[in-house]
Amino acid sequence: MNILIVEDESRMRRLIGDYLKREGYHVIEAVDGKEGIELFHNKEIDLVILDIMLPQYDGWTVCREIRKESKIPIVMLTARSEESDELFGFELGADEYITKPFSPKILIARIKVLLRKVEENESSILSFDELQIDTSAHMVILSGEKIEMTHKEYELLVYMFKNEGQALTREQILNGVWGYDYFGDLRTVDTHIKRLRSKLKDKSDYIQTVRSVGYRFEVKK
Ligand code: CA
Repeated sequence: MNILIVEDESRMRRLIGDYLKREGYHVIEAVDGKEGIELFHNKEIDLVILDIMLPQYDGWTVCREIRKESKIPIVMLTARSEESDELFGFELGADEYITKPFSPKILIARIKVLLRKVEENESSILSFDELQIDTSAHMVILSGEKIEMTHKEYELLVYMFKNEGQALTREQILNGVWGYDYFGDLRTVDTHIKRLRSKLKDKSDYIQTVRSVGYRFEVKK
């Protein structure tokens, strides 16, 4: 597994790199956004750890460039912690957003969750009423039309889909989609459900709110 670290601070790069190498990952380092994009194009990269404040191109630009051609997991690092930045990151298709300072152990745990999910994606088509999910191509088709969604929205949809008919708590969803080690708050689930529903358009009621529990994926009879 090749992990690309795009980070201008050499100390931070070394810290993350050392942890990853200890876990058996192959580490490729870029010192600025431009080199990050170049290495992404020239190497087989399985996951990207991306700082936001970078010389040359910033992390947002690098993220956008990668998303033009790939759905590989992207973990954004930043010193800033404003929520608007976080939401912007998800809009651009980042899978995780980690605020500095962070524990390298948590970073590694999240990386493992992301990579495991990539591996688990068997090639098959899940079908439900007007909805089809091609898990090998990571493609979602609704009423014959392709829906664009971020990696996390996709993961959430697949998770809901696989637990069809079952009332799921926000905790269950958070653990199932973001991983047990994720310390985000439960509103993350609500935010993503809201976006997912808006993308499902007239089929938004596939995801139902179960009062004082959470959500359920189902076709209303
Ligand atoms: Ca930086």
